[in-house]
Amino acid sequence: MPNTLDIVNLRKVFGARGRAGGVVAVNDVSFSIARGEVLGLVGESGSGKSTIARLIARLHTPTAGEILLNGQPVPRRLGGRALKRLRKNVQMIFQDPYASLNPVHPVAYTLKRPLQIHGLARGGTQAEVDSLLERVGLSPASTYAGKRSFELSGGQRQRVGIARALAARPELILADEPTSALDVSIRLDVMNLMLDLRDQEGLSMLFITHDLAGARYMSDRVAVLYAGTLVELGPAVEVIDRPQHPYTQLLKSAAPKPDAGLVPETIEARGEVPDLTTLPPGCPFEPRCPHAMPECRDGLPKMYDVGHGHTARCILHDPAIRARNQGLVTV
Ligand code: SF4
Ligand code: MG
Repeated sequence: MPNTLDIVNLRKVFGARGRAGGVVAVNDVSFSIARGEVLGLVGESGSGKSTIARLIARLHTPTAGEILLNGQPVPRRLGGRALKRLRKNVQMIFQDPYASLNPVHPVAYTLKRPLQIHGLARGGTQAEVDSLLERVGLSPASTYAGKRSFELSGGQRQRVGIARALAARPELILADEPTSALDVSIRLDVMNLMLDLRDQEGLSMLFITHDLAGARYMSDRVAVLYAGTLVELGPAVEVIDRPQHPYTQLLKSAAPKPDAGLVPETIEARGEVPDLTTLPPGCPFEPRCPHAMPECRDGLPKMYDVGHGHTARCILHDPAIRARNQGLVTV
């Protein structure tokens, strides 16, 4: 069975029409999401996480690289019908449920629109709306169908946002920081809802977050992005409990300790987020890396296999560098 999503050497350069001088927001990123898998995409603000989601949903056009859905390449030029089909199969859930719902419309209208647009639930629209509300825990549906977004709590709004995404019967959900605008106390409820829906509906999910604890809780595998570059990829437990890239290690050391709360609010790492217009040659993390060596500037390191399906883009895993270090530097 093909993966739900493959992205291959995906690249997005903003400005300068892709020529030198533009900002490389996404730098040759490759990863896959299997059917029913949750892939966590972790990084600081400005690391390119949202841009990747917007490229997959074709809200941006890639500069280079390929996106495949169910093994089929998504053409660079997408006509109206093909774009509509893509937008049905790939649904987004946004960070801010306050901004993503129109306060004028009652919840039922918000959920009917995608059903109408995609020609789903003809005649049975009301039953489908009720079912959507029940599936996201807004029960009984009659209590919520007539409400407007300002009459709902933040958690209830995000449940409506999730129901709206489900309405189109997508195969892939792109959830862009879906819990970071919510109170800590209800984040776990929303994450559990998303995991239940994955199990019940067989959805695949890209879960974008800057919260390592949330990524570990939600994800089967985790991809770590730094300055538009994929730096680490592997099973969630491996990447987060035993990070093999100095950047992921920095993120982890900057995160609140687990006993400070189940889901910490923020894990912004120490140091400056890089200016994407003046990235150094070679490893993008070199200016902040405690282990930087002259060789780190020689070229972008490859992804080194560190075992257990886990890869890290750092030359400390190069056998020759390891031998030279003789165990003095460990990652
Ligand atoms: Fe640090 Fe060099 Fe590894 Fe980059 S390649 S993370 S600069 S040690
Ligand atoms: Mg973002």
